Amino acid sequence: MTHIAQNVAHIREQIRLAAQKAGRNPACISLCAATKMNDAEAVRAAIAAGVDICGENRVQELVEKSAQNAYEGAPVHFIGHLQTNKVRQVVGHVDLIQSADRPGLLEALEKEAARQGICQNILLEVNIGNEDSKSGFTPQSLLETIDEFGKYRHLKTLGLMAIPPISTHPGENFQFFSEMYNLFVDIRGKKYDNVSMVHLSMGMSNDFEDAIACGSTMVRVGTAIFGPRNYHPV
Ligand SMILES: *Cc1c(COP(=O)(O)O)cnc(C)c1O
Repeated sequence: MTHIAQNVAHIREQIRLAAQKAGRNPACISLCAATKMNDAEAVRAAIAAGVDICGENRVQELVEKSAQNAYEGAPVHFIGHLQTNKVRQVVGHVDLIQSADRPGLLEALEKEAARQGICQNILLEVNIGNEDSKSGFTPQSLLETIDEFGKYRHLKTLGLMAIPPISTHPGENFQFFSEMYNLFVDIRGKKYDNVSMVHLSMGMSNDFEDAIACGSTMVRVGTAIFGPRNYHPV
């Protein structure tokens, strides 16, 4: 086995244990490989090892790896900050845009999906830690957006995504994950046009077990699958 296959097997086991502890079915929790800065070969290895989804952060990487058929055999999601002038390269090219994080982007996505004559699935990203450094809807603006979501006739919201503050200790983000779950359940209990709460995407390498304890249905894991990212290639 390659190290990627070993890592994926290990994470699956951790997911199984965390789900079991929470009285949940591990089969209902999907594993999204956060593939940023990893090449097509690494992505193929992760898919061969059985990750459910590939999540890409940068438009340029998405375009390059798509051209190399890197994602063959797995759905691909966009999970990074998306500039409005790049929506054309993403809408219609990914199964889910997890990082719909502001009204201006929703307008741009709607316009592009309408132009293509498609319905684009998205998640609404919530800035649950209220961090200045992060984009995403506040819980209040999220509810306002969902209330009028019917106006986006070419978009469908399938759930929520969150990136809480970077955690260094286990349990640190428990409160944020719980708040996300409460939002998810509240919205799920009501009826809104073009909105159905299927996915709650939260939890990364450092904290996915806590996220599962709090009700995450999709974890996005990079480092624990591929190893540390080299941000300064020589
Ligand atoms: C990089 C990234 C992840 C994975 O982070 P790790 O800590 O490497 O597991 C998850 N979600 C998003 C949006 C990311 O950009």
